[in-house]
Amino acid sequence: MNCGLCDAINQDYRLVKEFRHSICSIIKWPLKLGHVIVIPKRHVINFNELTKDEAKNLLDLLGYMSNILQKAFGDNTVIHTNIGLHRSEEHLHIHMLPSKGGIRELVSSLEGVPLREDVSQEKTQEMRDYILKFA
Ligand SMILES: [Zn+2]
Repeated sequence: MNCGLCDAINQDYRLVKEFRHSICSIIKWPLKLGHVIVIPKRHVINFNELTKDEAKNLLDLLGYMSNILQKAFGDNTVIHTNIGLHRSEEHLHIHMLPSKGGIRELVSSLEGVPLREDVSQEKTQEMRDYILKFA
């Protein structure tokens, strides 16, 4: 299998922290200083493929790295993942990015949507019902 993130597991120059089932690594194309990814060591595509031990280990490493990044950069840390079309690697990976703003500010500036917009209860219910059609 050709997977850049499986390869990253063995690239010590990128390794920030290793836990039993997951690692934190400097991302191949960092957006800024402090941009890292947390990945399971086993090649999986989505969260529901992780065992309970792997899932707990991944969350533990995210928590550990949140504290490290907070100490290192003092900023907010945005944690996100891409599932689907825009992921650069199929291997499940979670980005951690020190940021002056939160995810709301990043998405608002990226996608040109209002930072905060009140949504009616009816609109909220429509959103919920649309999602549940696929459940
Ligand atoms: Zn992989």
